[in-house]
Amino acid sequence: MRFGQSPVDRHQRAGIGMTSARTRQRLVSQLQENGVSHPRVLEVMANTPRHLFLDQALSHRAYEDTALPIGHNQTLSRPYTVARMSELLLSSGKAEKVLEVGTGSGYQTSVLAQLVPRLFTMERIEPLLNRARTRLQGMGITNVVYRHGDGYAGWPDREPFDGIMVTAAPAEVPKALQWQLAEGGCMVIPVGTGEQHLLKITRSGNYFAKQKVEAANFVPLLNGLS
Ligand code: SAH
Repeated sequence: MRFGQSPVDRHQRAGIGMTSARTRQRLVSQLQENGVSHPRVLEVMANTPRHLFLDQALSHRAYEDTALPIGHNQTLSRPYTVARMSELLLSSGKAEKVLEVGTGSGYQTSVLAQLVPRLFTMERIEPLLNRARTRLQGMGITNVVYRHGDGYAGWPDREPFDGIMVTAAPAEVPKALQWQLAEGGCMVIPVGTGEQHLLKITRSGNYFAKQKVEAANFVPLLNGLS
């Protein structure tokens, strides 16, 4: 994938030293130190310009391994989290058609879009969704379908999905989402209020095997549209 072709992109990249290959390579080394090992995921993390997903005032912090604000009380996920969740989603094999709940800035969306053939992403805050769509289109990413919708209900007219990634935390796994997994499909989702855990859920017929991966810290999955 080539970046840097659109006028917006050229403008945002101009004079920004933090886009250097060395800065991104440092981030990738940090991800590896934290246990991320999937070669394609590391490659995509190294090639994705995270500063394009932030306001200019914050873009100098884009390659720190930390969550950052994107407005509307929401955050851009920490690179480690994005890489780890992507790696988990790919670990169950087939991930041809994937649903992402919580588009936010579109950063995780842009990473996933480079890892899977077909991506469906939904967001409850319309201005965030529109901004993310414009950014990804400006980057030349064309394999994503966008929807302003409530992730608790999932995307019934596009199911089943080989993978579902949720980037905000509900108190419990939403049942509707679970049933939109394909046979053998897997969902990566943070769950819990107060204390949260990242879960990997794998569907086998009517059974959903739950694996607790690690502690997590996400904004809450909220009901309804905004
Ligand atoms: N992955 C994003 C970060 C997302 S923060 C990024 O890389 O920028 C979580 C996002 O989930 C927020 O944008 C929030 O508005 C959205 N969200 C919360 N509840 C939701 C719901 N029920 N349906 C869809 N999106 C939701």
